Amino acid sequence: MKGTVAITTLGCKTNRFESAAMEEQLLGAGYEVVPFDQGAQLVIVNSCTVTSATDAQTRKIIRRARRLNPQTRIVVTGCYAQVDPEALVSIPGVSLVLGNEEKRDFLARLESEGAEGRIEVSDIRSESLAAVPELSRFEDRSRAFVQIQNGCDAFCSYCIIPYARGRSRSVPLEQVVEQVARLSLQGFAELVLTGIHIGGYGADLEEGSSLLELIRAILDRTDIHRLRLGSLEPTEIPDELIELVAASSRLCPHFHIPLQSGSDSVLQRMNRHYDSAFFRGRVERILELIPDAAIGLDVITGFPGETDDEFEQTRSFLDTLALSYLHVFPYSRRAGTPAASLPGQVGGALSKGRASVLRALSDQKQELYARRFIAERLEIIIEGGERTGIGRGITPNYLSVSIPADLSMVGEARQVDIQHWNGTTLEGVLVN
Ligand code: SF4
Repeated sequence: MKGTVAITTLGCKTNRFESAAMEEQLLGAGYEVVPFDQGAQLVIVNSCTVTSATDAQTRKIIRRARRLNPQTRIVVTGCYAQVDPEALVSIPGVSLVLGNEEKRDFLARLESEGAEGRIEVSDIRSESLAAVPELSRFEDRSRAFVQIQNGCDAFCSYCIIPYARGRSRSVPLEQVVEQVARLSLQGFAELVLTGIHIGGYGADLEEGSSLLELIRAILDRTDIHRLRLGSLEPTEIPDELIELVAASSRLCPHFHIPLQSGSDSVLQRMNRHYDSAFFRGRVERILELIPDAAIGLDVITGFPGETDDEFEQTRSFLDTLALSYLHVFPYSRRAGTPAASLPGQVGGALSKGRASVLRALSDQKQELYARRFIAERLEIIIEGGERTGIGRGITPNYLSVSIPADLSMVGEARQVDIQHWNGTTLEGVLVN
């Protein structure tokens, strides 16, 4: 046995997919994977840099790993490592900083004889292939993520991701279909197609493809029970995709769409290529074809120059949309992005204040949407639970339901009768 290792992951589903792949390789190489709190001999931190808060979290985790085991060897990878390796290599205990592409052969790099405290980060924007390792297991037993794409070419003015993840590049269709079949055989009832910008899937492939073609291939050639789509840009939700979701009982009627702002003038400063009227049109088209669809949005508050008026445009725009939930983020200034040097930077307190207004709106919308399904019978996939004897499950339309269940049921797809809303979530009983 090569010693104990702990992997800790921040950020998005793509990072979690990559951590699962690293864990599988470490196990295959004879390492023992242990929980972070056990003070492993080797700690791998898969970092995120989407906001200044995730940077701070990454640094905090590194210091904690060292406190748990002062002899531990710390390797940092992920998006923060990609864009600012010097800041990380200077933290005591960090022996190696790897870029996102270096995850591909991370094992050889961490086992090589090289000096401690080194940086191995390549120019990720010169990468043209989406080299994604095969996965046959996943940390979670109820659903797994499948990475289909990496990188982004959109360069929204506030976003650091294109600099951390490189150009948009797709995993070949055959490889994705095989990955889905492999995890479905492992018993996963739900898979989530993930990436950085999945709506752009296939555009870079020599043979040319599209997200629509990929989904059709997965539905035709695998027996995956439930397929969920990751975040989709509003300009990449064609009618054909909505119709396919409407027609398929295996595709989740759940659309997560980054809006970012409901003010057209702010959208322009964000370099987002649509306006609020277009966005409303997409939401209404989805609900016209799939009236019970779950629609969740990302929104940023306090973007540079955002006036009270512009914020009110966003708030009232959201108020008039039939949504299921909002993910709200106060703007975070990212060095190197165009928005970081825009005039009229909004103070943290004001951004946070606006965020809490929208989060309250999100709570109302979430309750309103969830209550529509009381007395309905829905399918859930059981995901474990907070208390002994109480489990939780997720419906295709992304509702969380509390049910009496035990941990042996985790991963099962079961019918549930929805009984009531308990103030934060739905409660139901399993149908025998
Ligand atoms: S689409 Fe915009 S927000 Fe999303 S990853 Fe690309 S640049 Fe960032």
